[in-house]
Amino acid sequence: MPDVFDLAPKVELHLHLEGAIPKDTLWDLVRKYGGDPAVPTRASLVDHLQYKSFAQFIDTWWWMTGFVRSYQDFESVAESVALDLSRQHIVYAEASFSPTDFERHGLSPQGIATAIRRGLARVPGIQVVLNCDLVRDTGPQRAATTLAAVMEVASQADIRGITIGGSEQTYPPELFENVFRSAREHGIRRTAHAGEAAGPQSVRSALDVLKVERVGHGVRVVEDASLLARVVDDQVPLEVCPTSNIRTGVVAGWEVHPVGELLDAGANVTISSDDPTFFHTSVADDLRTVAELYSADAVALTERAIAASWMTAEEKTSCLRTTTDWWAEHR
Ligand SMILES: [Zn+2]
Repeated sequence: MPDVFDLAPKVELHLHLEGAIPKDTLWDLVRKYGGDPAVPTRASLVDHLQYKSFAQFIDTWWWMTGFVRSYQDFESVAESVALDLSRQHIVYAEASFSPTDFERHGLSPQGIATAIRRGLARVPGIQVVLNCDLVRDTGPQRAATTLAAVMEVASQADIRGITIGGSEQTYPPELFENVFRSAREHGIRRTAHAGEAAGPQSVRSALDVLKVERVGHGVRVVEDASLLARVVDDQVPLEVCPTSNIRTGVVAGWEVHPVGELLDAGANVTISSDDPTFFHTSVADDLRTVAELYSADAVALTERAIAASWMTAEEKTSCLRTTTDWWAEHR
């Protein structure tokens, strides 16, 4: 029986398009490209999406990238993701995409971005804005090339921002200073994964060196009292993805997840699912658990996500109205 968390209009700021491919679509792609003996059945796909460490999650992500090989694949993936988000009553999502992970298939960042937009455009009633993930693991040079490429199609594909995902513990923010400066100069919005696989210093550098406007995850801010105070004082929006942290082994479990401490401290917490297919979750599931465990207000969490989004002022007003009208009827 669906509850209010399932049915309420929701907003998700930290969602990887390729990490949100519905399992049936992913299974179709695996079969389309000859299958994998290590994943012989649809049921075994679920077992394959389990990790003992953050590094193993990155390996599994790389495995997935082997099965999205054409622009047509990206178009149908984007359509199936948008349909799935729409079924979840997500009214606005910022989806990142990681073009360099697919360049070995001969796909350009511009081609991937416009294919994704074609797929998303087939699904009415949901707004999906794109953020380009410049992928730490392919280094700053490739990041600069990718940024230049996607900027050519930014307005056509509605790409509003950038992030850096991947191996935070190996590739610190400082490497990407120039590319983030360039993005800033071109009016591109900026977030970065930080304080997930690496500690507080990574968040400091994301704020001070990359001058990000939001922090992806940021949960390890709680390891440093002065940084936590700064993040609270400045109300830096945090894209917190609790189930993701538990599934990748960054956090041992819900009972020790820093989201409670962040909320108690007054941090600007928003809730997202990150890679729902890979972590067997959804933004509704994470909102429900945070609300139940920490008495957090799901409406306030959604309102914060709207405020911290890359929506225009008019889009924010409209989205806020949709949300508050729904809750006024269903509280
Ligand atoms: Zn992420």
